[in-house]
Amino acid sequence: MTNRIELIQGDITKLQVDAIVNAANTSLLGGGGVDGAIHRAAGPELLAVCQLLGGCETGEAKVTKAFKLAAKFIIHTVGPVWREGTQDEEQLLANCYKNSLQLAAENDCKIVAFPNISTGVYHFPKDLAAKIAVREITLFLEKNKVPEVVIFVCFDQDNFDIYKGLIKGNRHQAIERDA
Ligand code: ADP
Repeated sequence: MTNRIELIQGDITKLQVDAIVNAANTSLLGGGGVDGAIHRAAGPELLAVCQLLGGCETGEAKVTKAFKLAAKFIIHTVGPVWREGTQDEEQLLANCYKNSLQLAAENDCKIVAFPNISTGVYHFPKDLAAKIAVREITLFLEKNKVPEVVIFVCFDQDNFDIYKGLIKGNRHQAIERDA
């Protein structure tokens, strides 16, 4: 169990895994941060299929192919904008992880990589977001055989340091490797 969560620092678009998760917005039509990076790397076909999806509610997730990426699938999920905790943000962020993992399992994705959803321009506190992410993924992996491995991909140093501490604290193995 414990060795099913890994941690790396790097660019999620470079990973050769079954699915990468995108921290999208409700339009699913691209944006800044990791969303922009994924759309740039996947190419214009991604936008074309996203236009057919009719957007996505906060906390929900939708899956597409990954086009030019080395990954097979992109799971697009919409994190909550942090509004001082007054809008059910913690539950909505938990839902992002749960619903993304559910889609990964349905598509038989054995290795799935997550960015730190909502901790960029959506300003969710990084410590709290990381606790929720580790909790939800641990719960899901305890109940499901697929995904076999979940990789947290931290882009910024703050998140990487937080996850290093948390995963050790939870007696998970933290494996750092090149993205
Ligand atoms: P949100 O709107 O959900 O806050 P952002 O894309 O602004 O989404 O930020 C989410 C997280 O993604 C941030 O922690 C940011 O550092 C990280 N990030 C940005 N670019 C990349 C990338 N290429 N690969 C992985 N993570 C990234």
